[in-house]
Amino acid sequence: MTVRRNEGLAARRARAGRVVDALRACYPDVRIELQYESEIELLVAVILSAQCTDRRVNLVTPALFRRFPTVTAYAAARPRDLHPYIRSCGLYRAKARNIVAACRALLDRHGGRVPVSRAELNALPGVGAKTAGVVTLHLSGGEPAFPVDTHVGRLARRLGLSGQRSPDAVERDLTELLPPERWGLAHQLLVRHGRRCCAARAPACAICVVRPLCPQVGLTAAGARGPRRAKA
Ligand code: SF4
Repeated sequence: MTVRRNEGLAARRARAGRVVDALRACYPDVRIELQYESEIELLVAVILSAQCTDRRVNLVTPALFRRFPTVTAYAAARPRDLHPYIRSCGLYRAKARNIVAACRALLDRHGGRVPVSRAELNALPGVGAKTAGVVTLHLSGGEPAFPVDTHVGRLARRLGLSGQRSPDAVERDLTELLPPERWGLAHQLLVRHGRRCCAARAPACAICVVRPLCPQVGLTAAGARGPRRAKA
């Protein structure tokens, strides 16, 4: 398939759908990589994952979740009580403050439950649009959302699905191209493909499953050649 330069909205929608189909065939087991067993563990893990790898978060959360098993336990803590558990995640002082403040707000405003609406999540202290989007996507009864992190933004631009820089604007473009029931899946697939193949510095275009659908916007010829092998 050739990607036309002056592609209209209908053609872009069709291509976006094919990108999702191809990535789903490539990553049939795709799911969030953070490990959690409850709504509060999900919220805390997503807050910790900002500018940190999911693997690192998964290393620290078992001990953290044992020490703070409930919203009440976090709300009763001082932020510095969390420091020893999350220090290796980066930005740990701010993350500890945010987790404690968010849990106090959950007790005050939501009876200690994590709300499912993205707007209510986004209104919690320290919970931004991306965090709220990821959390609502994974909660039972949550809303459709297409949160844009660094991987989603980069792939959306390279794939010619958005020309925007800000996450909010990229999300608006992407949600115009795919139906709401595919947003969550598409988000996870773009994150996975960004990690496994379409890396920021050296995308593995030569072995990329969506190469026939990708105009490789912003890549030089050398950049598009990428490494010989994708990272496992
Ligand atoms: S072809 Fe290259 S730029 Fe396009 S999605 Fe694949 S790895 Fe990324």
